[in-house]
Amino acid sequence: MRFAARMKDLGTETAFEVLAKAKALERQGRAVIHLEIGEPDFDTPPHIVEAAIKALRDGHTHYTPSPGIPELRGAIAEHLTATRGTPVKPEQVVVTPGAKPIMFYTILACVDPGDEVLVPDPGFPIYASVVRFVGGVPVSVPLREEHAFRMQVADVAQRITPRTRLLIFNTPHNPCGSALTRADIEGLAELARRHDLVVLADEIYCEMLYEGTHTSILALPGMAERTVLLDGFSKTYAMTGWRLGYGAMPVALAEQVARLMTNSNSCTAAFTQWAGIAALKGPQEPSRKMIAEFRRRRDFLVPALDAIAGIRCAMPPGAFYAFPNVTGLPVSAHEFADLLLQQYGVAVLAGTCFGECGEGYLRISYANSLENLREAARLIRNAAAGPPQR
Ligand code: PLP
Repeated sequence: MRFAARMKDLGTETAFEVLAKAKALERQGRAVIHLEIGEPDFDTPPHIVEAAIKALRDGHTHYTPSPGIPELRGAIAEHLTATRGTPVKPEQVVVTPGAKPIMFYTILACVDPGDEVLVPDPGFPIYASVVRFVGGVPVSVPLREEHAFRMQVADVAQRITPRTRLLIFNTPHNPCGSALTRADIEGLAELARRHDLVVLADEIYCEMLYEGTHTSILALPGMAERTVLLDGFSKTYAMTGWRLGYGAMPVALAEQVARLMTNSNSCTAAFTQWAGIAALKGPQEPSRKMIAEFRRRRDFLVPALDAIAGIRCAMPPGAFYAFPNVTGLPVSAHEFADLLLQQYGVAVLAGTCFGECGEGYLRISYANSLENLREAARLIRNAAAGPPQR
């Protein structure tokens, strides 16, 4: 079969490939500790599950409006107004199956062939993949260890050209666990206003911030008319498999994105939308407990990695990822990740899964039990020390 030429430009998420390799090893009877996956290891809180079951029983089994049911759009608008410190109207909100489609639709709606899009490197691989897919040009903004992996305003400024259309950033950040400061965000907003850029602010990890406070660019002067805020339920409420996310954006863009929804998904599953209302309006305790547990794990894992000869790991302030520098080891990060999986049964990702600037690093997800993290740290220490032994 012949495929459309554009398919060669579409990338992927290598995390899923490593997961497949790890699962193949497990099928051969090998034990694998999964630190490659970007999802909470907790189950969805029971009151959210109950709300979905009730919605199904109540007959919420039909199509809904493409941008979401008014009740959920309203609840999200209220939630954003309360948490981001700026009024958000329900008409600005589009509900999607997971937050990922917000990236896809924003890029489809805003980027013409030849337009340049600034993306973090390392960064979530789907940003650059979709930009290429629509004929745009992803322009990497390097995130460096010496700047705590925070996107530098000067680095962004240097890369802006008359073709720059969109700036994408993610805070707290996947894969680095870094977080932008208020001053960083103000600097980025100033550039966006000056150069008339659209901003896609990926705030999916904003509840998982262990130090400092989250500033949403949406709340800064002149930004509501040019910002797409991406968030969702996958991480905060351990709902990755439900596929429920959203974007808040200028009303005119929300209408375009809703049209893209009509043309692709029609709508997000009705009962998951009702579950989303329960998530936002119900008890927040289960989510808070989960996040407190992530923090405990981080506080164990990061110093344990940093203590290994050849590995250096700074404390990441957010998300649930450690991003150790492994350039002190005699092998490349990619080879080390392979060795860890094949010989030691520890699945992690090479930093290059997230862009060229990830060279020399690993992404280690600490969304796993403390017991497994202890064992993984021991195995990583053994692997770093020399010849394979279990
Ligand atoms: N943005 C970032 C930075 C992510 O890491 C992820 C998921 O891994 C997403 C967005 C997408 O989340 P969802 O599962 O809601 O589509």
